[in-house]
Formats: sequence, structure tokens, C-alpha cells
Amino acid sequence: MHEHQVINPATEELVATVPAATPQDVDAAVRRAAEAQRSWSRLAPGDRARHLRRFAAAVDTHLEELAQLEVREAGHPIGNARWEAGNARDLLEYAAGGAERLAGAQIPVAGGLDVTFHEPLGVVAVIAPWNFPMPIAAWGLAPALAAGNAVLLKPAETTPLTALRLAELALEAGLPEGLFQVLPGAGPVAGNALVEHPGVAKVVFTGSTAVGKQIMAKCAAGVKRVTLELGGKSPNIVFADADVERAAAAAPGSFLDNTGQDCCARSRILVQRSVYDRFMELLEPAVKSFAVGDPADPATQMGPLISAAQRERVRSYVSETEPAAIRGEAPRGKGFWYPATVLEGRPEDRTAVEEIFGPVTVVIPFEDEAEAVRIANATDYGLSGSIWTRDVSRALRVSRAVAAGNLSVNSHSSVRYATPFGGFKGSGLGRELGPDALAAFTETKNVFIAVDDSEP
Ligand code: NAD
Repeated sequence: MHEHQVINPATEELVATVPAATPQDVDAAVRRAAEAQRSWSRLAPGDRARHLRRFAAAVDTHLEELAQLEVREAGHPIGNARWEAGNARDLLEYAAGGAERLAGAQIPVAGGLDVTFHEPLGVVAVIAPWNFPMPIAAWGLAPALAAGNAVLLKPAETTPLTALRLAELALEAGLPEGLFQVLPGAGPVAGNALVEHPGVAKVVFTGSTAVGKQIMAKCAAGVKRVTLELGGKSPNIVFADADVERAAAAAPGSFLDNTGQDCCARSRILVQRSVYDRFMELLEPAVKSFAVGDPADPATQMGPLISAAQRERVRSYVSETEPAAIRGEAPRGKGFWYPATVLEGRPEDRTAVEEIFGPVTVVIPFEDEAEAVRIANATDYGLSGSIWTRDVSRALRVSRAVAAGNLSVNSHSSVRYATPFGGFKGSGLGRELGPDALAAFTETKNVFIAVDDSEP
């Protein structure tokens, strides 16, 4: 049987060995899921909500255990890992409430009564990446279940352990057997089998643009529903009228959190020329004091990259020995460490337009608002962005002009379970989270009931 080794990225020690699902396993899982979904979709919405609240409570009870598992399999600092487990719990609670509020409409028409229904899709596949294993699994899982679907989760090869534990907790919390199953395995094998399976009604994919495009093309063959979240090259725009001290103090977290392996990472900092030197002076000590080291230490802010392959990928953009405007420290020896790196560059540089997915950002000066917007929009991506200014009109103008799904003013926060999340342009298709999260896992059906003879 084929297996995957889970390696601790901070120590390179073997954490676990996990069997890899075959296409036959996927086929059997789809059948079991379809059977479970039939009864699940007929439950009263309040009963589905109760099940999901119990699942959320189980996650809450095991929050520390899940967080520790994330530290070992993904190398995330423990403080971040606790947030991630809490985010999964919050999503389950939020979606539970949604199950009871997923209402259709009654639309005024001539000759009868017109009503709409939100019907579940059936079996949904969630193909998750390794950068935020628990939250991204939950973003698909929770609303899909709440809307009456079954879910098959394919975690990334490097990070299957929290997903497997979530499935155990779901069963312990009383969710029906087969309704939520985890299929660890290789993307091109287990992942592809899910995408191609006629019994899977929708694919929710988060990961690289290359794989996302392949999945969308395969879904097109079966007119399968698809949501894609494909990363970004998000700008952090600092205007001269901003609180420059605050902007500089907040900047390191915006590209170093999760060691930069964050689709919302502010991997470009655009700074208005008149405050450029001041900003760089303030940024240097802020980057150098970002605490890098043992992920199990609560004081740690940045851990290692996920794998040797990811470190090679980052090195293909900039190596640790090349000159940089600012460079932090990284532990030596075992582990996939890479230092915080700030480059100065031009908008057209490869490092300024491609997603590196490491602790690297590029600082670019601009003259005026129009130039800032032009540079911000000069990539194929459009996921997130930050605007630092004290001028509320400018904040709104620039927010509307930047082609991205999630903008923050005087903040770097992009993800809240109650607000919609997703990309413009090459960053993806569809939205997750927020008040419409459940609707994305339903078909809208319209029913017209004639009440007189005026409409045949
Ligand atoms: P990836 O796209 O290969 O993997 C993401 C998920 O898709 C994993 O579960 C993987 O097993 C699965 N997968 C891979 N090939 C598949 C296929 N043919 N059919 C179905 N599923 C498949 O990403 P990666 O190789 O792990 O990372 C490479 C780069 O992707 C990163 O360096 C980064 O730039 C980007 N990335 C972005 C995000 C994001 O949040 N948008 C997350 C992870 C990676």
C-alpha cells in the first residue's frame, strides 16, 4: 500500500506515516457519502444545526490537542495553531446557525405563487492545501454540511493529521457514518479521482494556480460546480498621510505570518516616495525583532517553511546569500528555515508579480494615488490588499479602484468567518465564508404554482 510520511518541518523528524487513498478508495467513499447524504439532507435544519454544534464543541474540547498536532505537522507557531483550531470551531458554529436560516424566497408573479428552494448539491469534495490545514478544511466542510451535503476532504500530502483527527471528532460528536470522510493521498491520484468522479457534485479547491486551472478544466467536462482559491500577490499601500509608525510596525506580520505561506500575504509594499526612507528606517528593526524559532514556544512568531521543496522554491526567487535591503535571522541546522527578507524593487520584477509563498516582500516607491493603484493592479492576482491612510475619502477611492476581493484599511486582517472571502482575476472563482457561504453549496430551484388560468 502506498503511504505518505508526515515530517516535522522544524526538526525534519518523522511524525507519522499515513496510508494514501487509491481511486478505488475514493469510489467507495463517494458511494458511502452519497448514502449518508440522503438521510442527512432530509433532517430538520435544526437537527443538522444541533449535530454541527456538537461537532464544534468537540473541536473546542480538543482545541489544544489539534493545535499541537498542527505545530508538529505544519511547523506553525503554537499561538497561530490555536487560532487555526479556533477558526475551525467558529466556522462550525456559524454554519450551524446558517442551517436554520437558509431560506428561499417568495417572488411576486402573475397568475400564481412563485417560491425558491435551496437544495443541497449532494457529495462535495474539498481539496485542501498545507498552509492552513484546519481553517481551509473547515471553510468548505462546515457550510457544505450545514446546507445538507456530504463532504470528502482530501488534505495536502504534507498535512493530513489534523484533518484525520477532525473526522474522528465528527464521529465522536455523533455525525452520521460516511457523511464526512477524509481521504489522505497524492493530489494527482486521490485528488484527481475526486475531481473526475461523476458522483461528486462540487469541488472546492485551494492551492496553486496551475492545479486550480487543471481542476477547473476537468470540472467543465461534467459541468461540475467549482470554487477556486488560488493565492495572491497582495499589495500593502502606505500613503504619506498615514500613521507611518503604525504602518511600519504592522508590516512584518503581514508578510511573515505563517512564514509568508499565506495567500493573503502582503508580498508587495508600495510606499509613497516622500515617506519611503522613514518607512524603511522603521521597518528594519520591526522585521529583525520578529521572533523566529521553535514553533512550540508561545513567544515564537515565525516557524520554518513547510518542506525542503518549498524552501527550494523560495530560493529560486531569492537565495539567503543574495543582497537584500533587510534580512532577519533564521536557525541553522535541521528544519526548513528561511530568513525574513525585504527586497527593494520595481513593479515589473519577477519577485514583485509572482507568488513566492515564503517570508519575502518587495518594497516599491510610488509618486501619487494613481500610480499606487496602477502598480497594485499590475499582477494577474487579486485576492487581498491593505491601504494605510488617514484620509477616509482616499481609503474608499483606493479600495474601490484596487481589483481584489478583500481590502483592509489601516489593518492587515483579511479573514473573518462572518465576511465573504475570495479572489478577483487569477486569485480564484467564487466566495467562501460570510452570510452566503451555505448558498454556494446549493442549487436554487424555482417552483411556480398556478392559482388561476391566466398563466398556462
Ligand atoms: P498544490 O496546488 O499542488 O496542492 C494543493 C492541493 O491540491 C493538495 O491537497 C494537493 O494534493 C492537491 N492536488 C495537487 N495536484 C492535484 C491534481 N492534479 N488534482 C487534484 N488535486 C491535486 O500546491 P503545492 O504544490 O502544495 O504548493 C505549490 C504552490 O502553490 C505554493 O508554493 C504556493 O505558491 C501555491 N499554494 C497556494 C495556496 C493558497 O492558499 N492559495 C496554498 C498552497 C499552495
